[in-house]
Amino acid sequence: MSLFSHHEFDNHEQVHFFCDQESGLKAIVAVHNSNRGPALGGCRMFPYASDADALNDVLRLSRGMTYKSALANLDLGGCKSVIIGDPRQQKSEALLEAMGHCLETLGGSYIAAEDSGTSVPDLQVMGRNTRHVAGIVARTGIDGQPSSGDPSPATAYGTFIGLKTAVEHRLNRTDLSGLKVAIQGVGNVGMRLARHLHAAGAELYVSDIHQDQLVRAAEELNATVVPSNQILTLDVDVIAPCAMGAVLNDQTIPQLKAAVVAGAANNQLAEAKHDAMLAQRGILYAPDFAINAGGIIDIAYERSGGSPEQVMAHLESISETLDELFQRARETGRPTGELANILAEERFQLRHTLA
Ligand code: NAD
Repeated sequence: MSLFSHHEFDNHEQVHFFCDQESGLKAIVAVHNSNRGPALGGCRMFPYASDADALNDVLRLSRGMTYKSALANLDLGGCKSVIIGDPRQQKSEALLEAMGHCLETLGGSYIAAEDSGTSVPDLQVMGRNTRHVAGIVARTGIDGQPSSGDPSPATAYGTFIGLKTAVEHRLNRTDLSGLKVAIQGVGNVGMRLARHLHAAGAELYVSDIHQDQLVRAAEELNATVVPSNQILTLDVDVIAPCAMGAVLNDQTIPQLKAAVVAGAANNQLAEAKHDAMLAQRGILYAPDFAINAGGIIDIAYERSGGSPEQVMAHLESISETLDELFQRARETGRPTGELANILAEERFQLRHTLA
């Protein structure tokens, strides 16, 4: 398994491999870029089929965090960690404590938060051995209610306002009543996004692999349940991927009927070329790392001690960022994902400049 010649290696500043035999911990931490500040990113636990898959994921995800934080104008760098293992079977206090110990040895060059397979309580257990965890401080949330530190409500709200911006640009409407939106995955973020959309009068279509999530969305929001293999190709105005990555690909894009793609899932494009494929079909794509930055914004304010009002104000800026991207796309004819990459790179001082 190569590193420096790995196809996902992008001049990452640091890559660390950790092993703790007693607890069974096997983890990789990748710090992509810290030009803008301390590197902060989620800790994912997943039963990777191979070490190579885990390395691939952590290199991609850490790079994505650099772009996300830069585009959101946060003074944070990008990083991620992965723990190799099934969170339902292999997660234990000993393993999480061992991970905390590993994080402490990095001296703060990586700050961990929740991700798929880890939760606020898990990060709190890691926090017994390190100061370098985030997204765990109970405080007042953006809705004025007590919050555990879970960033999902902020991610969902940011996605909602980003979706509205995309609809305004592509469909020339500000009123969402009757707008047909298909949401793939009604978990922590997707269900909250669905509630915002329902309150704004949208007509919802949902899919999920867990029946209880679907029953909840149908009963609470009058959402129409759709089989998983049909959700992306429904005849709706907007599709909102809120489950897994790589859902915009050679197979799905030619079949899409929606005019807008605006959802919270990370790494929605299977390959870079799919950005241009969407643009060629006249589909407006809200780049995932621009629209789903609400969670990292929330965590940044948790660290700085900012108020819910400050978090809200920063979340609203997701709309301004997308406005700028969509406008540039219209003026230059270039796809939105490519423009988002260039804008982020300008902000963390890498190689490209806008034409
Ligand atoms: P989650 O696990 O709570 O929800 C995901 C949902 O998708 C689950 O209900 C799951 O059953 C469902 N799902 C899985 N495979 C599916 C499939 N094939 N078809 C339909 N549904 C499927 O996760 P989340 O925290 O809501 O995150 C959702 C997405 O948003 C992820 O891609 C995540 O990386 C991204 N994201 C989340 C945050 C956050 O703050 N939670 C921040 C940024 C990005």
